[in-house]
Amino acid sequence: MRWTRTLISTLRDDPQEAEIASHKLMVRAGLIRKLSGGLYTFMPLGVRALQKVAQIVREEMNRAGAQEVLMPALQPAELWERSGRLAAMGPGMFRLKDRQERLMTLGPTHEEVVTELLGGEVSSYRQLPCTVYQIQTKFRDEIRPRFGLMRAKEFIMKDAYSFDTSLEAADASYQAMYDAYTRIFKRCGLFARAVEADTGDIGGKWSHEFMVLADSGEDGVIDCPACGYAANQERAERMSEVRSQKSEVGSEESEALLMSEVATPDVRTVDELVKFFSCAADRFTKTLIYVADGKPVAVLVPGDRDLNEHKFKRLLGCKKLELADDATVRQVTGAPVGFAGPVGLTIPIYADQSLNGAAGRITGANKADTHVKNISLARDAAVTAFEDLVIVGDGDACPLCGKPMQMKRGIEVGHVFKLGTKYTEAFDARYLSAEGQRELMVMGCYGIGVTRTLQAVIEQSHDADGIIWPVSVAPFAVTLLLLDPKDEAVCEVVDTLERELEAQGIEVFTDDREERPGVKFKDADLMGFPIRVVVGAKGLAKGGVEIKLRTSKDIAIVPVADAAAEIIKRMSNDY
Ligand code: ATP
Ligand code: MG
Repeated sequence: MRWTRTLISTLRDDPQEAEIASHKLMVRAGLIRKLSGGLYTFMPLGVRALQKVAQIVREEMNRAGAQEVLMPALQPAELWERSGRLAAMGPGMFRLKDRQERLMTLGPTHEEVVTELLGGEVSSYRQLPCTVYQIQTKFRDEIRPRFGLMRAKEFIMKDAYSFDTSLEAADASYQAMYDAYTRIFKRCGLFARAVEADTGDIGGKWSHEFMVLADSGEDGVIDCPACGYAANQERAERMSEVRSQKSEVGSEESEALLMSEVATPDVRTVDELVKFFSCAADRFTKTLIYVADGKPVAVLVPGDRDLNEHKFKRLLGCKKLELADDATVRQVTGAPVGFAGPVGLTIPIYADQSLNGAAGRITGANKADTHVKNISLARDAAVTAFEDLVIVGDGDACPLCGKPMQMKRGIEVGHVFKLGTKYTEAFDARYLSAEGQRELMVMGCYGIGVTRTLQAVIEQSHDADGIIWPVSVAPFAVTLLLLDPKDEAVCEVVDTLERELEAQGIEVFTDDREERPGVKFKDADLMGFPIRVVVGAKGLAKGGVEIKLRTSKDIAIVPVADAAAEIIKRMSNDY
């Protein structure tokens, strides 16, 4: 392909709204153009790279035995009503009406459509297992679309769904997808890590996210270098030491001391308490009042820790969990916000497991402008259950081996999830078993953000000058810089090289613009093609063409006659 015959333009400056490197580079290198917030056009180079990622995904899905289908993006809302998700999806789902005033949705995902489909198609156990997938546009009205393709309102997802006769059989389908994902990200040149992920209502260790580690990632990833445990921060657990009152700070006195009130006018937050009492934040116990499916509950966490709402929600098994409003706090505790404590509360109280046996603590007194000190949870409060409930962070003990864990940031590029019978029950999707019984199919669902994956490649592989494409997803493997477009001999060498390389199936992008060499070099680095070949009159006079890899500073001068063979050799050696 020749630059002068394509709709490709690079930009010198970063687009104003772009915050992360990959977003800036995608726009500057001419891969995408913004239409409006969260909506992007793929330009010719962008489409080529996107198709490469999609093709890798397709090949590995097919290899894993999944069958490609294509379902409508426009879906009757009635399907979502049947699964109970029409309300649950809230404003994140685009809704519209057709001319008959029928409510429709633009699919954010396809569990409903696929379960309805397979429920109709599968009648016998002989047709199972069955995994179908599609590569298709999804729509989500994200609260904050940002980072270019990373969080868009319209994006391309590969979504796969497995159907099995039993939980055990579903395990095998899950594993096949997990393995396919590992191969896909590797082939895209990505270092992606599978981490345990939150399973929402379903529970169990049944969900993994594939994370590309990057400082700009929106997800926290907790990683144990000692034993390999890794989890999304939403999900991550920690081992907390088992306490006895004896081991508590100041426990000697606190055991003997009864709790006593302290006047703390206007001292509400942990920071204010630390100043007022001049002691460490972990001596305080925070009491948070939540409302779970309409009922108030209290939860206690150490003063220096934050509650993980996902864990709390899972423990309660509730559908909706939200912080109580001021009026509810007042009603439940008899005090304004900032003075809640566990003593005397009549609502259920849950506590982080690190507080089991805690004594000598300071908490709110359920009375305005007052705290109590010398609290012993065992003695003074009625805690229903102690569970791991805090957000885990850097340095916390691994739940498996107890060694300190590290906190990293990651981009979720893929997600595999065992669904069980949640949807097949809702859609009564059954098969006839060998024994002649009508049984529910057991499902799994598996997503890859194809457009997000493409951008993650750039986020993980770039330098100050631009993108560094791996050959597998590069829009073109080779760029030929034609330095003297008016020089016939130079043009002839470029023509020949193009022909020789393309005959070998190698995609070549030729910069044939009337531009200074410096401009061409800069753009080649920005666009990041794996191999750069410079053809100019000066070089030819010196003995040949220059071959350079994007990943290295070394330049080789190669005689024209050997150039094509040398380029092919380097492509297979170095990538
Ligand atoms: P996130 O937590 O990032 O919002 P999600 O967990 O809601 O994502 P899934 O429903 O698991 O996403 O979708 C499967 C995959 O689709 C994700 O792993 C991600 O790669 C991609 N994806 C999800 N939302 C977006 C989006 N708004 N823009 C681009 N890709 C997305
Ligand atoms: Mg997800």
